[in-house]
Amino acid sequence: MSETRKGMLLVISGPSGVGKGTIISRLMAGDRSLVFSVSATTRAPREGEVDGVHYHFMSVEKYNQLVADGAFVEYAQVHGNFYGTLKSEVNQRIARGETVLLDIDVQGALNVFDQGIECTSIFIAPPSLEELRQRLIDRGTEPMDVIEFRVGNAAWELSQKHRYQHLVINDNLEDAIEEVRNIINTQRSALA
Ligand code: ADP
Ligand code: 5GP
Repeated sequence: MSETRKGMLLVISGPSGVGKGTIISRLMAGDRSLVFSVSATTRAPREGEVDGVHYHFMSVEKYNQLVADGAFVEYAQVHGNFYGTLKSEVNQRIARGETVLLDIDVQGALNVFDQGIECTSIFIAPPSLEELRQRLIDRGTEPMDVIEFRVGNAAWELSQKHRYQHLVINDNLEDAIEEVRNIINTQRSALA
């Protein structure tokens, strides 16, 4: 019964281009009690990205003000831009019984774990770094130097995967979606 369901925080991390956004949007399309925490970022919007839907796009000045105001659950510099999870996107929704999804980088996730915030955590890994690079190339949203920078960061990110409760390898997309869905459902059953 959704009215009595307890809310939960689901932290999803993994290297850029591994398929986090694809998996999250597919899961959300079939489950209205999943809500996405829209992060703040200082990076420029990609073509098709909508302010308030994909990110809250903002200046470095505005971001710094939010840091000073204590508005973030966690925040980090990732691949040269600033990102942060807003408390306003998370706290009330969990209290309402919703499952709040965070698509955040490894530094941000470790920060959440170190604060002792109750959450379920999933690391999404690529089948190989070559495949990761190819997905970023095929996505076509970043120039080659940015792609190499992001693939370069993936090695450290992968070295932290043991800090997460669950590891899902996104080789076959449908299998990966099913694995994440099963993790969510198992956790919900435990909370009910
Ligand atoms: P992230 O959000 O982790 O940066 P995306 O969801 O944007 O990654 O996915 C990166 C690219 O890889 C997209 O073009 C997406 O369509 C593609 N992709 C995602 N999962 C798979 C998969 N299992 N096999 C092949 N391509 C995939
Ligand atoms: P992108 O620029 O490709 O959208 O995201 C780059 C990286 O930033 C991804 O690893 C994504 O998970 C991470 N990210 C997005 N939002 C946040 C956030 O609020 N906090 C942190 N720590 N990382 C974030």
